[in-house]
Amino acid sequence: MRKNFTAAFIYAHPDDETFSCAYLIQDIKDQGGQAVLLTATRGEAGKTGRLGDISRKELAARRDQELEQAANVLGISTVKQLDLGDGKLKDADPERLQQEIADFLNLHQADVVVTFPEDGVSGHQDHIVIHHAVNSVIYGGKAPSVQKLYYNRFGSLLSDMSGLLRIDGEGKWDIKRRALEAHESQMFSIERVFGPLGPDMLPQYRYETFELVWERHPSAKSMPEKSVFDGLEAGEELN
Ligand SMILES: [Zn+2]
Repeated sequence: MRKNFTAAFIYAHPDDETFSCAYLIQDIKDQGGQAVLLTATRGEAGKTGRLGDISRKELAARRDQELEQAANVLGISTVKQLDLGDGKLKDADPERLQQEIADFLNLHQADVVVTFPEDGVSGHQDHIVIHHAVNSVIYGGKAPSVQKLYYNRFGSLLSDMSGLLRIDGEGKWDIKRRALEAHESQMFSIERVFGPLGPDMLPQYRYETFELVWERHPSAKSMPEKSVFDGLEAGEELN
């Protein structure tokens, strides 16, 4: 049996993983891989939605539970949350943030990393800070187990998708919907993006799209890729 590959998702807030990677995480599980997640904040500056007027401390505690539930639905094996200040990541010590990311990747011996693109998907400053911190770790050689780096791309906005990895959500929407529902405090923003959550996947959300931006050992593999694990060394045998 081949080594069980690990993909690490590095994001800013609870819910970032479900918005952009719920199909990919299922695909990784289907292949016998592991998904692990690091978020830099607890999401305490988010809107409180149907929860009404609650404090940031209460919202942080609530969102911890929501993320735990979403991670269970998605099958993420490990979640680590830092508490570096929702909405304030640009004020966090960049060395500390990079060290936390490097320590997490090294602890889990991550083979693959997935994170935000340069515009942070939505332009959110926290997302952009994470993008740069992950780049510094990977390009700075601080995570030697990592073989591939991917950014989220939004397929519907791109004219040329030929080089991109697209994960088909067919048969995977139900789990994504349940993970979105777990982030109940964020339901207003979730429904603004995905519409009222129901049994049917909206056609524009059928795919999650990722761009391979860096490989440690560029390999001859057929493009577009079918999986984030394409072309990886098989690693040691497991008994
Ligand atoms: Zn976010």
